[in-house]
Amino acid sequence: MALITLSSEVSQRLVAGEVITGPQAVVKELVENALDAGASAIQVEIWGGGMEMVRVSDDGCGIPPAEVELAFRHFTTSKIRTLDDLHHLSTLGFRGEALACLASLAQVEMVTRARGHLGGVRVQVEEGQVVGRWPAPHPVGTTVVVRRLCPPTTPQAGEAPIREVIRAFALAHPHVRFELRAEGRRVLATSGSGDLRGVVAELFGPTLASTMATLGPDSQGDVEVSGLISRPPAARPDRQRIYVAVNGRPVRTPSLLEAVETAARPFFPKGRFPLAVVHLRLPPCLVDVNLSPTKDEVRILPQQEALGLLREAVRRALRETPLTEAVGASPLLGPWPSPRLAEGPPQWEKAPLRPLGQLLDTFLLAEGAQGLYIIDQHRAHERAIYESLLARKGQRSPLKEPIVLELKPHQAAMLRGMPALLAELGFSLEEFGRHHFLVREVPHMLENVPGRALEEAVQEALVEEEGWLERLLISLACRAAVRRGRRLRPEEVAAILEPYQRPGAPTLCPHGGPIALVIGREALARQLGLG
Ligand code: ADP
Ligand code: MG
Repeated sequence: MALITLSSEVSQRLVAGEVITGPQAVVKELVENALDAGASAIQVEIWGGGMEMVRVSDDGCGIPPAEVELAFRHFTTSKIRTLDDLHHLSTLGFRGEALACLASLAQVEMVTRARGHLGGVRVQVEEGQVVGRWPAPHPVGTTVVVRRLCPPTTPQAGEAPIREVIRAFALAHPHVRFELRAEGRRVLATSGSGDLRGVVAELFGPTLASTMATLGPDSQGDVEVSGLISRPPAARPDRQRIYVAVNGRPVRTPSLLEAVETAARPFFPKGRFPLAVVHLRLPPCLVDVNLSPTKDEVRILPQQEALGLLREAVRRALRETPLTEAVGASPLLGPWPSPRLAEGPPQWEKAPLRPLGQLLDTFLLAEGAQGLYIIDQHRAHERAIYESLLARKGQRSPLKEPIVLELKPHQAAMLRGMPALLAELGFSLEEFGRHHFLVREVPHMLENVPGRALEEAVQEALVEEEGWLERLLISLACRAAVRRGRRLRPEEVAAILEPYQRPGAPTLCPHGGPIALVIGREALARQLGLG
C-alpha cells in the first residue's frame, strides 16, 4: 500500500502523543516498522546507550523512491486509510507518527531500497525536514540511523531497557532473526529458527529453556494461546519476565500479566514468579490497540474468555507437562567437548543403550545407535535425581534418624514460606523451637544422603533468597549422586543408564556440564586409519 497522509477525521481519532520517550522507544518504533515491512532479519546497533546513535537495519520490503520523504510526515502511513481499518489491523504501527516525531527530536538518516527497484535512496532529515537525498546502494530493505537524540523528557538511557525491547520482540517473533550490538559488542542474537524454545535458549540459556513447560496450544472461540512457562524452582523475584504478545505485539497489559501470575502462583513460592512467554492470537477485529500512544496496552474484546483461557493454559502446563517432554522438544545446545574424536552430544532418542561396563571407576560405557557412549556417572545420576525431584512425584522415604536443621532466622523464614511445595517435593519438616526444623522424611532418592550433607545443602542453598529452591534441588541432587571413582556393580550401571533409555533424555547435568559424549564408527575408523 502506498503512503498517504490520513484525513483529519481519521487522525483526530488516533490516540497519539509522545511516542519517543527515550532510546528504547526509538528502537521499539524502528523494530515495529521493520516487522511491519516483513523483515526476516533485524539488526540493531546502539552507541552511547542509544543517545548518541541507534541504527536499525532490516531486510523488509523497503520504501519506493517516490515515497521516502512522505514517511517523515505526521500522520502519514501505508498501514491504514480509514477508521474502519483500525478494526482489522494486522500491523504493529498505524498512526504514521513515529518517524515524524523522531525526525523532530534527532538527526535521522534513512537508506532504503524497495523490492523491484535496482538502487536505493538515502535521505538526511534534520529538524523534521528532509535536507538531502542521494542515490545509494542498499540491499532490499531499510536502514535507519538516529543520531543525537534529544527527547522531551529525561530518558532512561542505556543498554538494559533496549535489550528488554529486543527480547520482547524476539520472543514474539521466533521466525525473525534479531541481533543487538551495544557499544560495539554483540549483546544478544537469535537465529530466527521459528522454534520458541530455541529463542528462549538463545536469550536465557539452554538449561532454563529445556526445563520450561509447554503452554497450550489451547483455544476457546476465536482466541488461541500458546507458549512456554518455567517450572519451579526456575523462578524470578519479579514479574518482569512474563512476556505476553497479542498477535505478535509485545504488550504489558496488566490484566493479561496478572492472569499468568495468579494462575502460576500456587505452583511457586511466595514472591517468586515464572519466566513465561505467552502468545495470544485472535482476529484483529477483537483487539483494540488504539489506547495509548506507545501501543503497549491492548483491550481484548472477549476479555473474560481470553483471561480464563490463559489462566487455564498456565495451570495445565504447570500441572501436567512432564519435564522430560519439555527437554525432548529441543535438543540442548551444550558446551560440547572438542569434536575431534567425539561426534558430539548423544541423541538418546536413537538409543536403546546396551551397557558395556565401567571405565576407571568413573565413566559408564554403553553401545547405542550412534556408536560408543561414554557417560560421566556422576553427572548422569545427578541429572536423573534432579529430574525426579522436580517431577515432584511425592514419593518419600522416612529417615532412620530424623535430622535437625539449625537455621538463621531469615533462612527459617524461607522454608516456612512454602510448606506445601516442600511437602510436595517429598520433605516432611516439623518446626520446633526457634529456627529449628526436624526432618523426618526426604524425597525418594535422597534417603542415603548423610544427615550432615543434607544440612550442608540446605545451609548453602539458603545463603540468600534469590534462587534458593533451585540451588537446594541442585545441591541435593549432587550430594545424592554417585561420586566419581566409585566402582559400580552391573545392575547399578544399568540403573543409572535407565532414564537415558528414553527419547529426549537430558544431555546436560544441572550445572550445565555435558553428561556424555559419543564416538561413532567413522571417528573410530578414521583414528585407526581404516579408510
Ligand atoms: P506507521 O508505522 O504508524 O505507519 P511510521 O512513522 O513508523 O508510521 O512509518 C511511516 C511509514 O513509513 C510506514 O507506514 C511505512 O510505510 C514506512 N516505513 C517506515 N519504516 C519502514 C521500514 N523499515 N520498511 C519499510 N517501510 C517503512
Ligand atoms: Mg511505525
